[in-house]
Amino acid sequence: MAKLTVNDLDVKGKRVFMRVDYNVPMEEKEGQMVINDITRISATLPTLELLTKKGARIILTAHLGRPKGKREPSMSLKPVADKLSEMISRPVQFVDDCIGEKVEAAANALQNGEILLLENVRFYAEEEANDPAFAEKLAKVADIYVNDAFGAAHRAHASTEGVARLVAQRGGQCAAGLLMERELKYLGDELSNPARPFVVILGGAKVSDKIKVIDTLLDKADTILIGGAMAYTFKLAQGLKVGKSLVEPDMVDTAKAALEKAKQRNVQFLLPSDNVVATPVKTDRLNKKGKPVIELHDHRVNGEPNIPENEEGVDIGPDTAKKYSEVISSAKTVLWNGPMGIFEDPRFAEGTFAVANAVVQATEKNGAKTIIGGGDSVKAMNKAKLGDKVTFMSTGGGASLEFLEGAVLPGVAALSEK
Ligand code: AMP
Repeated sequence: MAKLTVNDLDVKGKRVFMRVDYNVPMEEKEGQMVINDITRISATLPTLELLTKKGARIILTAHLGRPKGKREPSMSLKPVADKLSEMISRPVQFVDDCIGEKVEAAANALQNGEILLLENVRFYAEEEANDPAFAEKLAKVADIYVNDAFGAAHRAHASTEGVARLVAQRGGQCAAGLLMERELKYLGDELSNPARPFVVILGGAKVSDKIKVIDTLLDKADTILIGGAMAYTFKLAQGLKVGKSLVEPDMVDTAKAALEKAKQRNVQFLLPSDNVVATPVKTDRLNKKGKPVIELHDHRVNGEPNIPENEEGVDIGPDTAKKYSEVISSAKTVLWNGPMGIFEDPRFAEGTFAVANAVVQATEKNGAKTIIGGGDSVKAMNKAKLGDKVTFMSTGGGASLEFLEGAVLPGVAALSEK
C-alpha cells in the first residue's frame, strides 16, 4: 500500500479536515438521543491522539443515519461530540452545520490540538450526490484531508471523495488515518501474499452478494469453506434437493462456474456435509414489512445429502462444524466473512460459534493471521466475546466486501500516493 498516512504528515498549525465514521447506533430515551455502542468513536481515537500531539487543528466530518438531505434532529451528531469529549476528557467543539460562515469562523478560531465536530454532512443531499459546489464549500476549511472512515470509502460522496480531490488539486496532502491504514493493510497487503495454507470461510444469506469475492479469492485461497444459506444454492448446483431453504435459483449457473473454477485451480472447495434443519411455520402475526412472521419449529440434524421438502437448512451440522474447525485450526492465514447459519437465533448459532472458536485457535495455537472481514461475522465474534482474540476485525461492511472483491474504493483512490 503506497498511500500517504497521518504518520507522514506535518500538520502543526494546519486545519486537518478528517472524515470519520460516526454512524453509531442511537436510541431515544426520555426525549434524548442516546448512543448505544461507542465502537466507531473509539476506533478513531488513535488517529485523533496522533494528530492532537502533532499540533493539528482538527475538523471532523461524518454522517449519521439516512436523513435524506434534510435536517433531522434525531440524527444530529451533537451527542457524538459530547460522547467524544467525555471519552478523551477534553472539550470537543460542535457547530450545527457542516458548511458556511459559522463553520469557517469556528475552524479558523481553533488552536493547535483542538477538535471541532461538524453537523451531519448528510443533512445536505449534495453530499451523496458528490456535488462539486458542495465539496468546494466543505473544502474551505481544509488545508489537509484525512480519511479514517473505511466503512464509507466505497461511496464517492463529497466528504469521502470530492473534498479530497479538491485539496489535492490545490496541492494539499490527502492521507489515510490509522484505522484506514490498518484496514488497507489487513484486507489488502496481508491477503495479497498470504502465509499458507490460506483458508477462506464464506457464509451469509446470498451467493449473489458474495460471488465476486468468491471469484477473486479462488485465485488466492488454498481452501474455501462455504456455510450459511449460500451453501444451498451450491447444493442446488450439484443437483441436490434443498427443501424450503433460502436459495437463489438464478445463481445456480454462477455457482456451477465457481465449483468448476475451484477444480481447475486446485482449490479445496467444501460444502456442508450435514445441516441443522427446521420446519418453517407461518403464523398470524405480521412483521414490520406487513408479512406473516415465520417460526422455525422442530429443529434437528440432517445428515442426508438432500433436505426434505417441508424443511429448511438453518445452520451447518456438527460433523461439518468439526471438519471446518479442523481445517481452520491448521491454517496460517484465515479470512472469514458471513455467518454459518441464522446465528441471531441461539438454536442455530452453534456452527457460527464453532467457526469463531476455531479462528481463535488458529490465531493462538498456530500463529495464524486471522482476519474477520466485516459485517455479521464481526457481530458473531463480539457476541462470542472473542473479538480481541483475532488479528484484525474490519470496521467496514459493504466497503470490506467491495475491497476484498478487488474493487478500487473511491475514498481510497482519492488519497495521495506516498
Ligand atoms: P450476509 O449479510 O450476507 O453476511 O448475511 C447474514 C445473514 O445471513 C444473517 O442475518 C443470517 O441470519 C443469514 N443466514 C445465514 N444462514 C442462513 C440460512 N441458512 N438461512 C437463512 N438465512 C441465513
